[in-house]
Amino acid sequence: MSRYAHVIVDLSADALDKLFTYSVPEGMEVAPGQQVAAPFGPRRVEGFVVSVDDVCEIEPEKVKPLYGPVQGYPVVLPELMELADWMHGRYLCNLVDALRLMIPAEMRGGRVREKTRRMARLVWNAEQVAAFEAGNPRAAKQAELLRLLSAGDAETARLNPSALKALRGKGAVEVYESELRRTPSALKSLETAPDFALMPGQRRAAEQIIAAMDAGGGRFLLHGVTGSGKTEVYIRCIRHALEMGKGAIVLVPEIALTPQMVRWFHARFGDSAAVLHSGLSAGERYDEWRRIRFGEARVVVGARSAIFAPMEDIGAVIVDEEHEHTYQSDSRPRYDAREVAWHRAAKCGAALVFGSATPSISSFMRAMPGVRPENRLTLLELRERVAGRSLPEVELIDMRGEFERGNHSVFSGRLTAALGECLERGEQALLFINRRGHSTFVSCRKCGYVVKCAQCDVSMTYHQTENQLKCHYCGATMPPPKTCPQCGSPYIKYFGAGTQKVAEEAKKLFPLARIARMDIDTTREKDAHERILGRFRSGEANVLIGTQMIAKGLDFPNVTLVGVVAADSTLNLPDYRSAERTFQLITQVAGRAGRAQKPGRAIVQTYDPDHYAIKLAAAQDYRAFYRRESAFRKSALYPPFTSIARVIYSGRDEEAVRAAAQADEARMNAFLDAGGLRADVVQLKAVEAPISLLRGEHRWQLFLKMYFKGDSEAACARMQALAEAAPAGVRAELEVNPVNMF
Ligand code: ADP
Ligand code: ZN
Ligand code: ZN
Repeated sequence: MSRYAHVIVDLSADALDKLFTYSVPEGMEVAPGQQVAAPFGPRRVEGFVVSVDDVCEIEPEKVKPLYGPVQGYPVVLPELMELADWMHGRYLCNLVDALRLMIPAEMRGGRVREKTRRMARLVWNAEQVAAFEAGNPRAAKQAELLRLLSAGDAETARLNPSALKALRGKGAVEVYESELRRTPSALKSLETAPDFALMPGQRRAAEQIIAAMDAGGGRFLLHGVTGSGKTEVYIRCIRHALEMGKGAIVLVPEIALTPQMVRWFHARFGDSAAVLHSGLSAGERYDEWRRIRFGEARVVVGARSAIFAPMEDIGAVIVDEEHEHTYQSDSRPRYDAREVAWHRAAKCGAALVFGSATPSISSFMRAMPGVRPENRLTLLELRERVAGRSLPEVELIDMRGEFERGNHSVFSGRLTAALGECLERGEQALLFINRRGHSTFVSCRKCGYVVKCAQCDVSMTYHQTENQLKCHYCGATMPPPKTCPQCGSPYIKYFGAGTQKVAEEAKKLFPLARIARMDIDTTREKDAHERILGRFRSGEANVLIGTQMIAKGLDFPNVTLVGVVAADSTLNLPDYRSAERTFQLITQVAGRAGRAQKPGRAIVQTYDPDHYAIKLAAAQDYRAFYRRESAFRKSALYPPFTSIARVIYSGRDEEAVRAAAQADEARMNAFLDAGGLRADVVQLKAVEAPISLLRGEHRWQLFLKMYFKGDSEAACARMQALAEAAPAGVRAELEVNPVNMF
């Protein structure tokens, strides 16, 4: 009987988002999830086998045979096939876009191979070696090689070639090829650490999660203040998973956090910990992926895409710092790793744990009474820091007052004094710059003109080292103007402060300070994060200046001072989440202080000291912030009380872009009326996008806001169909719950 494989070809096009049938030649083994090569028109393509059976719905003569498997094993586990299918429906992406997430990019198109090396092994036993040495006193090189190999196999490249050749000739030594696993540098350290004795709060939390794991699953929100030892709770749950013969996935928000977290996990779990993130080299990522796929690694720590780790039998899925927006993918497919984690954990009966000191409003709401069981998270709270340590004292400094008093430096008097004392005591400080606002734009003091990119409607950023203005969206550069391009005045001012400026001022104030800087510019190279953090950990540097990258997750015992140089540059972004993000950032960064024996303090400089996000962050009062913020969301009809979706239209021709958005607005209105969905809609509007020009393309958006209980899936599916039918010359892309609102 003929067998047929139904295949998703590895080409992304909406028209190809369906199964293609191939015949399986006699004797060829293929299984669902296997990566295969196949003819496609005149081309050779790769694809993923979805199913194998004896059903062929096209004329058998027209069916072409598969060329064969690319890998000797299914690269996509059945469970992940199912997950891809779910994503296909949930995120309205092509199936192949979801499948591509399941394997390292390098495995497609055969770009990486296992790396092998030649190894030498001793064949003789100890007596033979001794006899040879006794009988050949002058063959010192050969004797040395024999001694070396007696201690263990060695790479041939490191051995004396003539001695090796001679010994191989005698049959004393043999050479073999060994597959080499590239070890990510974060895993190379050999420190080990014992588990801590848990604090009562940690124990209660761990016990509840473990009980749920034994009962086949459960969902938790672990809300613990900074320094309350959430990681230790995760570790206990993972241990329990391993004891049950299962594995665990731990998601962390950013690569910068990974080295420390990874070192921690490696110290506890040794080689059964694997790491997956985009900072690895292609080879490292491929090797780590295979260690997981073949069950050698049973604990995976990684960024967003690690939720697709090829692990069977998962007992726990942990999402650390769950409030971070990096869990949402901002390119196709636009998935949310938290949602995927939720789905994957439910499917395999694993416990799901979201952890944070500052949970997202939407997750915390799920942990409140009255939520339906299928949406509910069980709240676990750690209200205190471990070992009786106290939360840092936070002091707010009104920078408007400083300016009036004639202090034009980026440092207030208080921060300068505190930094001096901290360094004098031999302790360490973190200085945080909230760079995601307009921190270093250049503007005219006279007319207010702001230098913007000619290609994008955003202000350009000043880079001192190159003395250039740069656009962070398209990379365009230009020299800073000497006079205002608009009014000709010479009063051009460089606003705000980047890490460079802060580093320079700190250096002036404290010439002996040993400063390390961590931002986009200093972390471009591979492993740069780790090197910088390593300098700080070892004490080689005593001041670490950085952006968002240093706000979260870092745990350095000697840090007793945190300075927030400018707290409010995220407050005024045109996004309903700007208060939430500001609150999270300040709370998190303040939480880096005083995490060990020595008490810590944080000094928060702001131009808006009365804003509730800033005040409540300084008070480290999450509950009060939650009440305030959720009331605002409710009254202003923002998520999680509503869902938001938009189609972004972009193209060179402004008129065509506008027309496409407006035409779809009319179509969408007709659709809502016809489907009786009108009552679910809060707002539907085609408007210019907040960034109306990006990389030379004009941007409009069709913005939809619906009540939470409305049928937003139907509306989004319709918007997706409209986006796919966008006219030539206009790109249209649907975003459900957009990562940012620009
Ligand atoms: P969080 O993630 O909640 O901010 P961490 O998990 O980073 O906190 O833990 C804070 C510090 O407390 C870490 O240095 C950790 O090693 C330590 N720690 C955790 N649990 C305990 C414990 N039970 N006893 C002593 N120290 C602990
Ligand atoms: Zn001007
Ligand atoms: Zn630009």
